[in-house]
Amino acid sequence: RTVYVNGDYLPEEDAKISVFDRGFLFADGVYEVTSVLGGKILDFDGHTVRLERSLKELGMGMPLSRDELLAIHRKLVADNGIDDGLVYLQITRGAADRDFAYPDPDTPQSVVLFTQSKPGLAESPMAKEGMKIISIPDERWGRRDIKTVQLLYPSMGKMMAKAAGAHDAWMTEDGHVTEGTSNNAYIVKGNTIVTRHLGNEILHGITRAAVLRFAREAQMQVEERAFTLDEAAEADEAFITSASTFVMPVVELDGAPIGTGRPGPVAARLREIYLDESRKAAI
Ligand code: PLP
Repeated sequence: RTVYVNGDYLPEEDAKISVFDRGFLFADGVYEVTSVLGGKILDFDGHTVRLERSLKELGMGMPLSRDELLAIHRKLVADNGIDDGLVYLQITRGAADRDFAYPDPDTPQSVVLFTQSKPGLAESPMAKEGMKIISIPDERWGRRDIKTVQLLYPSMGKMMAKAAGAHDAWMTEDGHVTEGTSNNAYIVKGNTIVTRHLGNEILHGITRAAVLRFAREAQMQVEERAFTLDEAAEADEAFITSASTFVMPVVELDGAPIGTGRPGPVAARLREIYLDESRKAAI
């Protein structure tokens, strides 16, 4: 597999990052994951705009232009023969003597990109079966709107879900659901789709923005507000969104079925619209 590291395209065995990299020592870095379907990149501009915002919130600049980033994405997709899969991008504050204070702003940032091949990414059996979710307290830091590589608590959450025989966890804070470990969370009651409002408590999902736009265009009602686990338990259906899962139905919460316990029509419709529209707009 060819990977990109700081200007070079290299076989993964030859790619190197300093042990002093602040991404490694302090999780001082941000990332993006973008889907590839049929060799084309989905929502590239949305991910790039969010990347720039994450960097800015941490006092970092954007080391490459949008067009340079797109060219790197495309070259990796082509060189690695990716039809369906993902592109992972990470930018850190670079390597410097270990010190909590940020290094000199001239320190070169580290830029790494690699691909993951996921044949049949859009045909996941999970879309037909639905996911089982458990709830766990949200014990992450307070700036979840910044897409940092500090992902230990979400990893712990996935392990808690696995241990409980579930696929993922929804996190709660002050009695309300924030989001999934790596996705945004939704419930459907009657004709209304409910998902948490934007703020520092959740990541501003690129898929979320697209799905809410498509839902409104299809005349569905959308409420952006916090919801409780009790509301979720009483919902007609539930689902998640993320760049790598698109729209995925949720059929069980903490061991109890949601609605019929089968994937619901709203999630199925939004998944179809999202995949159709995103494929058309892919670059
Ligand atoms: N929330 C969290 C915590 C995430 O890690 C992710 C994606 O990785 C999302 C939401 C979904 O965001 P996106 O739709 O941009 O992939």
